[in-house]
Amino acid sequence: MSTTDLNNIGEQVNHLRSYFNTGGTRSYEWRISQLNQLKKMLVEQESAFLLALSQDLAKSEYEAWTSEVGYTISEIEHTIRSLKKWMKPRKVSTPLVAQPAKSYQLPEPLGTVLIIGAWNYPIQLVLGPIVAAIAAGNCVVIKPSELSAACSELLAKLIPDYLDKQASCVIEGAVPETTELLKQKFDHIMYTGGEGVAKIVMRAASENLTPVTLELGGKSPCIIDSGTNLDVTVSRIIWNKWMNAGQTCVAPDYVLIEKSESEKFLTRLKKKLNEFYGNDIKNNKDYGRIVNTRHLDRLVSYLDNQNVVMGGEFDSEQKFLAPTVVLDPPADSPLMLEEIFGPILPIVTVEKIEDSIEFVNHRAKPLALYVYTNNTQFEQQVLNATSSGNVCINDGMMFMTNPNLPFGGVGNSGMGNYHGQSGFNTFSHLKTVMKRATFIDPALRYPPFSKMKLNLVKKLL
Ligand code: NAD
Repeated sequence: MSTTDLNNIGEQVNHLRSYFNTGGTRSYEWRISQLNQLKKMLVEQESAFLLALSQDLAKSEYEAWTSEVGYTISEIEHTIRSLKKWMKPRKVSTPLVAQPAKSYQLPEPLGTVLIIGAWNYPIQLVLGPIVAAIAAGNCVVIKPSELSAACSELLAKLIPDYLDKQASCVIEGAVPETTELLKQKFDHIMYTGGEGVAKIVMRAASENLTPVTLELGGKSPCIIDSGTNLDVTVSRIIWNKWMNAGQTCVAPDYVLIEKSESEKFLTRLKKKLNEFYGNDIKNNKDYGRIVNTRHLDRLVSYLDNQNVVMGGEFDSEQKFLAPTVVLDPPADSPLMLEEIFGPILPIVTVEKIEDSIEFVNHRAKPLALYVYTNNTQFEQQVLNATSSGNVCINDGMMFMTNPNLPFGGVGNSGMGNYHGQSGFNTFSHLKTVMKRATFIDPALRYPPFSKMKLNLVKKLL
C-alpha cells in the first residue's frame, strides 16, 4: 500500500493548523458545504467504495451498503438537518446573585483533530467521526487503518477531491506514520481500535494535554433468558454475530444461557444458519472473510482443546472461517480471556439465568450488553447490576441506528462517545458565557465589608 512520506506529516498538520486560525472552517455555510460534499462522495463513488470493501473484507454489497455507505449517508443527513440547532448558544438560567445577566454555553470548534480508524468498518469508522468533526467546525487529519489497504487508498484518493484541502488530509501508512502523527500537537484525538494501541495513543496525547475519545472493544455478552421468542432471538443473534464474519466491535462475544435451554438454542441456531447461508457457506457471497491470515491463525488457535459443536472449518488461502460454536469453554482459555473479534460464538451455560450477572461482572466492562428476555424484572436487574457502554434489550446492534443515542464505551471498552449530537459535542468546546448588565452595580461584593453585607450575601448565595 502507499504511505505518506514521514517527513511531510508535521508540515501537513501545521498547514491545517494555520488554516484553522484563519477562521475558514467556522461558518455554518462552510460546514454544510463540506457535509454535502461528503455525501456527494459516497453517492457518486458508491461502486468504488463497495469494491474496496469487497477487496478488504469480502463484504457483500448488502452489508457494505447498509453498514458502511448507507449508514454514513444517514449520519450525514441527520447532521445536516440538525446542525443549525446544535450550533446555537445553549441557554441556562442565572441565579439571583448574578442577576441581571444572561448565561449560556457557546459551542466552538476545538481546532485540528486527529481521527485514527480501525479496519473492520474501514469507511464508516473514519467517515462517521469526520462528519462530527467537520460539523463542529474543525480541521481533520485522517489516518485509516493499514489493514484495510484498499479502503485506505480510496479514502486518500477521494477525500482531497471532495473536501476542502486546506482543512483536511489523509495520512496513509502503518505504525511509523501513526507514531509520527502522534508526535504532533492536536486539539483532540479520536481513536478506534484495540486496547493496546489505545494506551500508546493516550500516552502520546498526554504530552500535549490533548483530550482523547477512545472507541474500543472487549467481550460483549449476550444473555438469553428462557421464554423469549427463540426464533426471533436466534435470527437477531446470527445477524449481529456473523455480519462481517464476526469482526464487529458490538458483536456478541459469547452467549450466556441456562444449561437446560442450551440444546434447544443450539438446534435452532444450526437450523437458522442453514436457512440464512445454506450448506456451502464458503461459497456464499453473503458471508465475509477474515481480514488477514494473522487474524485467521489467531482465531483458529482459540479452538485448540475446545468443545466445538458447530463449524470450525477454515481455509487459510481464502481467509475463511465458518460460523463456529463452542460449548462451555474453560473460563481461563484464550477464547474466554481475549476479545474474539471473529465468527466464533462460545455458549456459556449457567444453572440459573441470574448467575449470568455475576459472570459479566467478573470481567471488564463491555462495549455492549445484550439481553433477550420477556421478564421485565430480570431486564431491570441486568440494567441495574451491570455496567457496559451500551445495552440492547431483545435485539443486537440495532441501537446503533438511532443517532440520538450516543455511542461509546465505559472502563476498558473506551471513553467518550459520538453519533448525532454527541459527536458534535465531542469535537466542540462548550464555552461558558455570562453577559452581565451594567445599569446597576450593588456595592455588596466590594470592600469595605461589613457584618450586614455578609449576612445579606449568606441569604443570596
Ligand atoms: P487496527 O489494527 O486497524 O488499529 C487501529 C489503528 O491503530 C490503525 O489506524 C493503526 O494504524 C493504528 N496502530 C496500530 N498499531 C499502532 C502503534 N503501535 N502505534 C500507533 N498506532 C498504531 O485495529 P485493531 O486494533 O485490530 O482493531 C480491533 C479493535 O478495535 C477491537 O478491539 C474492536 O472491538 C475495536 N473496535 C472498536 C470500535 C468502536 O467503535 N468502539 C469499532 C471497531 C473496532
